[in-house]
Amino acid sequence: MVNKPVVIVDVDNTLFDYAAELHKELCKVCKDIPTPENWNDWNFYTKYMSKKQFFEAVGRAHERQMDFKPFEDAKEFLVCLSKSYRVCVASHRENRFLDVTKNWLDKYELYYDEVCVLPDKSKLFNKMVKLVVDDSPHIIQEAEKNSIRVCAISYPWNRVMSGNGCIMGNSLSEVYSKLESLDEKEGN
Ligand SMILES: [Mg+2]
Repeated sequence: MVNKPVVIVDVDNTLFDYAAELHKELCKVCKDIPTPENWNDWNFYTKYMSKKQFFEAVGRAHERQMDFKPFEDAKEFLVCLSKSYRVCVASHRENRFLDVTKNWLDKYELYYDEVCVLPDKSKLFNKMVKLVVDDSPHIIQEAEKNSIRVCAISYPWNRVMSGNGCIMGNSLSEVYSKLESLDEKEGN
């Protein structure tokens, strides 16, 4: 297949448990920061620190990328997607983290056709993009607006999106089974 449709796959909290690592960094700024199971709102941090402090902590966590292990089912999930899609792994992180992101994917043999780091992934949406995998409520919403199928691991900060069209599961394996049964129903 020359022109495979594209799937855009997020990294943080999609391919590995970023929230746990971010929490460690946020605790260094403010000891009262709640644990991730209480992050019920994407912007939960605003009560505890400035935007600048938050994004510095985000960067410090990304600097340690090579220390993190992917979710157990991440490798298989990407291989399964690659049979039907061109896989674009895209992460909202600073440009300086492009190489470490690729090195990390290579270290764990996580499949990709291309890797992008950019502040707004919805800029990648075009008519070839047929699936988005992302836990961010903003990206879920943008995908829905563009009529692109979207799925996510379910978290406290995106549960509110589950009533909409977003396909949610507790793990990537669960998300993939739901996608498969939907494809079967639609005869794809
Ligand atoms: Mg994410």
